[in-house]
Amino acid sequence: MPAGTKVKVVSDLIQKVNLRWDPPKRLKDANLLEHGLLCVLSRELSESKAEATLKALRRDFDDWNVLRVSQVQEVAPSVQGKDDGQNRLVAAMIKQYLQEIFQQNHGFDLEFMREDMAEGAKMFIKCTYLGVPAAYYLLWIAGDEAMPITLDMVRVLDRLGVIPRTTSLRKARTLIEPLVQKKGGELELASHLGEVLERWCDLRRPKCWLCPLADGCPHGKKVVKDWKAQQERIEAARLRSESRAEAQRQKDAQRAKREEDRKARERGRLTKKLEREREREQRRLAAEAKKREKELNAKKRAEELARKKVEAKKKAELEKKAAAKKRAEDAKKAAAKKKADDAKKAAAKLKAEQARKAAAKKKATSKASKTSKSKAAAPKKASTASKASSKAKKKVTKKTAKKVTKKVPKKATKSSAPKKAPAAAKKKTARKTTSSAKKKSVRKR
Ligand code: SF4
Repeated sequence: MPAGTKVKVVSDLIQKVNLRWDPPKRLKDANLLEHGLLCVLSRELSESKAEATLKALRRDFDDWNVLRVSQVQEVAPSVQGKDDGQNRLVAAMIKQYLQEIFQQNHGFDLEFMREDMAEGAKMFIKCTYLGVPAAYYLLWIAGDEAMPITLDMVRVLDRLGVIPRTTSLRKARTLIEPLVQKKGGELELASHLGEVLERWCDLRRPKCWLCPLADGCPHGKKVVKDWKAQQERIEAARLRSESRAEAQRQKDAQRAKREEDRKARERGRLTKKLEREREREQRRLAAEAKKREKELNAKKRAEELARKKVEAKKKAELEKKAAAKKRAEDAKKAAAKKKADDAKKAAAKLKAEQARKAAAKKKATSKASKTSKSKAAAPKKASTASKASSKAKKKVTKKTAKKVTKKVPKKATKSSAPKKAPAAAKKKTARKTTSSAKKKSVRKR
């Protein structure tokens, strides 16, 4: 690649790649571990607050291992953040950074890197929480502000077509150091390369389609082309899958519709069947009700007929009794009348007898007077005879009087018999009212 092109690529690298953090200012009294801690603190705090926090941590904790094993709430008071929440967040970040360094180095002394940059580079690259830009920053400090050189950096520049690939760090240094475009620009170039490495230019799976350098990167162009082809294949596969899914959905929808139609038909058949059964049941119930009503009416008619018969029978009996009673009364009246006529006849006969006797007596007296004149002893017999006839008259009149007096009360009792008729009429009307009440109650039922 021509030198001018290399310069342009490096310029694009610095211009197009934006750093997510500003490297902190190098402190004279801080070691590599503390500079790494400053890098972590500067992600959340300003440079001055990061330095103040570093001083507070030095003051509050005996050594870094004590700080590593301390609780977040114990570390947070030393953090100079804006509030307790940020202090706790930064305290957790400090602990995580120290834990990562401890796991990679088994200690907190990193000064050996100043003597063995290659080994230091290997260790720092593994510290993912610290990050590649911070690792290059520490390597820059460890190398006394010389350009940090790693094989990963060589890989990026090789993919960009700036330098050929090499496994020699010394040769790589000879190739990379000329790319620094201004004095003191080593950290800037290293930080940008570290950003590209960390975010996109992975060893096995570079995300060139996201890298801002893809337009000027030969390897990136190839990767983007392959990625696009892959995306097209994926998109085609997705479309095929979607079409299959759509076809399957349509099939499912059609099947569901058929199933729904079948269920609807089944429901319709069932509904019609139920409707028919209900109508049949209604007809049966109506017929039964009609039959019961017919039977009830027949029973009522029979009862009514029986009741009328009973009433007619009772009425006939009553009438019969009344007629018999009337006949008896008439007979009694006729007997009484006959008796009265007999009494009258007897009285008339008695009267005629008396008259005949009186006439006979008169005749006898006239004969006696005639004979007295003739016979002196005859008057005494005549007087006794008259006395006997007067006594006989008195006896006959008393007997007739008694008979008459005895007959009169009997007539009176007979005449009182019709008075019993109203009572019978009352009983009859009472029977009629009860029978009419019974008729009404039967009609109501
Ligand atoms: S385009 Fe790809 S290969 Fe090139 S620098 Fe970016 S990530 Fe690396």
